[in-house]
Amino acid sequence: MRQYELVERVTNYDPDADEDMLNRAYIYAMKAHGTQTRASGEAYFNHPLEVAAILADMKLDTATIVAALLHDTVEDTEATHQEIVEKFGEEIASLVDGLTKIAKLDMVTKEATQAENLRKLLLAMSKDVRVLLVKLADRLHNMRTLNHVKPEKRARVAQETMDIYAPLAGRMGMQLIRDEMEDIAFKILNPDANKVIADRLARLHEESGDMLREIEVALTKELASHGINASVKGREKRAYSIWRKMERKHLALDQLSDIFAFRVLVESVDDCYLALGMVHQTWRAVPDKFKDYISNPKQNDYRSLHTIVIGPHSMRVEMQIRTKLMHEIAERGVAAHALYKDVGEAKMAQLGVRVPAAESNAYRWLRHLMEVLQEGDSPKEFLEHTRLELFHDQVFCFTPKGQLIALPRGATPIDFAYALHTSIGDSCVGVKINGRHAPLVTQLKNGDEVVIVRSDAQVPPPAWEAIAITGKAKAAIRRATRAAIRKQFAGLGREIIEALLKKQKHELVDKELTAAVPRLGHKNVDDALAAVGRGELSGLDVLKAMGLAVDEKEIRASRRKLTTKKGATDGRLSLPVRGAAANVALKIHAATGAVPGERIVGISTPGEGITIYPIFAQALEQFDQQPERWVDLAWGVAEEGMRFPARIKVILINEVGALGQVTQLIGEHGGNIDELQMQARHGVRDFFELTILLEVFDNRHLNDIMNGLKSRPLVSEVDRVAG
Ligand code: MN
Repeated sequence: MRQYELVERVTNYDPDADEDMLNRAYIYAMKAHGTQTRASGEAYFNHPLEVAAILADMKLDTATIVAALLHDTVEDTEATHQEIVEKFGEEIASLVDGLTKIAKLDMVTKEATQAENLRKLLLAMSKDVRVLLVKLADRLHNMRTLNHVKPEKRARVAQETMDIYAPLAGRMGMQLIRDEMEDIAFKILNPDANKVIADRLARLHEESGDMLREIEVALTKELASHGINASVKGREKRAYSIWRKMERKHLALDQLSDIFAFRVLVESVDDCYLALGMVHQTWRAVPDKFKDYISNPKQNDYRSLHTIVIGPHSMRVEMQIRTKLMHEIAERGVAAHALYKDVGEAKMAQLGVRVPAAESNAYRWLRHLMEVLQEGDSPKEFLEHTRLELFHDQVFCFTPKGQLIALPRGATPIDFAYALHTSIGDSCVGVKINGRHAPLVTQLKNGDEVVIVRSDAQVPPPAWEAIAITGKAKAAIRRATRAAIRKQFAGLGREIIEALLKKQKHELVDKELTAAVPRLGHKNVDDALAAVGRGELSGLDVLKAMGLAVDEKEIRASRRKLTTKKGATDGRLSLPVRGAAANVALKIHAATGAVPGERIVGISTPGEGITIYPIFAQALEQFDQQPERWVDLAWGVAEEGMRFPARIKVILINEVGALGQVTQLIGEHGGNIDELQMQARHGVRDFFELTILLEVFDNRHLNDIMNGLKSRPLVSEVDRVAG
């Protein structure tokens, strides 16, 4: 095809077409492809030109035709996106960009099971429906010229077309393109079946002679006599559609009777039903074969009446009855919508379109197209403003091996890892996206290649639950967290038992513990230890169950006598806290401290761990806007003698001996003073303000000390520091 021929074809249906742009695109693409050739040996430029011609036959707008001419330039030549922007503007450049992006999908290995996801990915990546139209035309032309390609590649392309592009054309309502793609692919993929069916069709055609023509004439006359103006067209079914039916219904070719089909095109929806009545009066209808796709359109907006009757010579004949507009849309689908300049109520009525408020149809986007069509002033703007909304709530990413993983929009690498396998999620420590390291909070984008970095030492931090968005990932993280907490409690329980046994001068022997477990009502040692760790089972009871004589009084008394400085502040012991995973570093907010019995909450800091705050800490306010960092914590059971920090403020009248009273009282109550700061305050009387960092066993211990201080005559106020 020559340059002027293409331009003429376009201006024939669109007198306002931008001829200059078409001419420039023609020259630009021709120069860009230069001496490149196709497998057939012909100039490469013939390909984009033929793709443009296919789209011109579909009467599409200038931008689509220009994008077709340019569709392989950025992918295959020196041309750049920037250059296309400069020479042809943003609109064209963005169409070409869409085509360049989805061209990369062809490189990925595909399995049949991935086809559905790939179709969705194509839809999701093509923000403008015109990108898909060009892509389908591109694939159609490649199919038409497939005989020049090497056999292995030929089979792969044919299979891909069968799996992805033909169904996609079908979903977009473009029957003509779908049929042609399927026919070519079927011949390549299953040449034997194709030949058998084609031969059989030829024989049937001979036997039935002029039956097609006979029915056409009879039916047209009959309809005309009732005042219905109809065009009737008989046709044989395609080899591939017969093959599919044989496969689906497990029938032999001879058992397939309705090989002939007729299309009856009429003027209005009413005529459709009148014609149907006529057909059923003329020939006997086969029961249960009538389908009304006018009141119940298919998902791709296909509308028609279908019925099967016993026609002349007792042949079963399929009838499809529809209006001309319905037919146009059945064959051209999305592309057909651009053809109609005067769209309004009347056209909608002709289509039998009722637009219900709540549309359960999964293919709302096509409904949406109809609405745009109905409302839009200019059909030229129609395709341009049509954004494919379907699947835009999903993202599709690849594994390094090319497996396609569908995730909800906003999904992170953590979701991706869990989508692959729970063990991959549990051991995930990092991610590479498109070859680069990225944070685990990164939102994945369509087409991202995601490599999960794993470590077996990893336990998923509970904070991930807030980062993940898929139910699968969240549930797995919770499960892993629960398991880690249980392990932590079991470890804690073991420490408690060991400490108690030590006082009895006894080593912990697992065998003895195992023997005691049934008496404690637990299934196994870990369960029993975790119960001790959680404080549900007392360590003394465990010792008793082990048959050890225990002097409870002595054990209780020993607690107060503990003078060794063994505290949570020096970080040697793990804190008895529930709600954090075992390997997460825990520390207590230094400005306030926190002791068992006080309500606490954790704030997680990536890379550092969790800081424990008492719920009254004012410092928590700074995290109000970061709910994802908050971790629900609760105290577990502390090991005997373990101490915890608590900072208190004491206001004291400045008199001789006042400070001595304070330190003495704290000492009498068994509290340790870790830090003490003093500030003089002057007023009617002179005061001291003391800030004391105490080390205490728990909240009750702390309250004993604070109440004791309050009872001293020289102490005017005692408070917990709420920094
Ligand atoms: Mn191409």
